Amino acid sequence: LVRLRQRLAGTNNPLGKGLLALLSRDKLDEDTWEDIEDTLLTADIGVAPTQELVEGLRTRLRVEGSAAGEVREVLADELVKLVGPDMDRRLQVSGENGNPGVVLVVGVNGVGKTTSVGKIGRILVAEDRKVLMGAADTFRAAAAEQLGTWGERVGVEVVRGPEGTDPASVAFEAVKKGVETGVDTVIVDTAGRLQNKSGLMDELGKVKRVIEKQAPVTEVLLVLDATTGQNGMIQARVFAEAVNITGIVLTKLDGSAKGGIVVAVQRELGVPVKLVGLGEGADDLAPFEPRAFVEALLG
Ligand code: GDP
Repeated sequence: LVRLRQRLAGTNNPLGKGLLALLSRDKLDEDTWEDIEDTLLTADIGVAPTQELVEGLRTRLRVEGSAAGEVREVLADELVKLVGPDMDRRLQVSGENGNPGVVLVVGVNGVGKTTSVGKIGRILVAEDRKVLMGAADTFRAAAAEQLGTWGERVGVEVVRGPEGTDPASVAFEAVKKGVETGVDTVIVDTAGRLQNKSGLMDELGKVKRVIEKQAPVTEVLLVLDATTGQNGMIQARVFAEAVNITGIVLTKLDGSAKGGIVVAVQRELGVPVKLVGLGEGADDLAPFEPRAFVEALLG
């Protein structure tokens, strides 16, 4: 929580501190409520959730001269409600019937996919799991090498193919090896070319089908860059059509004033944010926890 707070404090955080300042004005008049709406929309929270939140706040803060402490508490409660305190955010990293869990990681280039694969490896290793990573992003020349470096850093073997190999064949080999060597979890990095929607769908569909000749995919994580705002939402929709997303990794929350994207993307996809990226280091990926997130936002 301390680290989350520090990281979010590095941004100009209009969602937390801005809202708190607005709500602490002497008079909550129409102008103030409009400013509050603007703040929420600027943070990419989305139109419907903005209205819900304002509605909730107006009802609960109608009492004139609410004390500052109460305002903070009410705002925190309403934000937590919006973020979905009851969603199941556990990663499905275990397989059944002796199979390894298979975590497929998807997203467009540059969002932090390979980095997140490395960091997830780190988290699982810290839990004493036996992990294998597959470098199926065979289109970006440096991707396999980058994952190889992460593998060394976190102590996980990486299965890779020659540059330009079919991503599905690397994914297949990785999971095959995972099954044969009895690892607990195989994490598969994929290529994220979005220029052609049907191409992407075909490719991801094929990767998943081929993997499932070996073992069922237990988790499909979509990696989104929090700084891209509405653009990220468009990407999310395309990926959700291509594969059945089971969780979201929201990266670069440390550099973003757009924390509201958590709410927007969960609503859009009906899938929970499971992990958040808070920096470039190996330990900068944290499970997403609504109450801690809101507390950090409010500083
Ligand atoms: P990919 O193309 O999606 O695999 O993206 P990469 O994993 O190569 O990451 C792209 C850049 O984003 C790299 O410079 C990463 O260090 C950086 N990055 C990834 N996650 C985070 C994060 O949570 N916070 C910050 N600040 N940078 C990140």
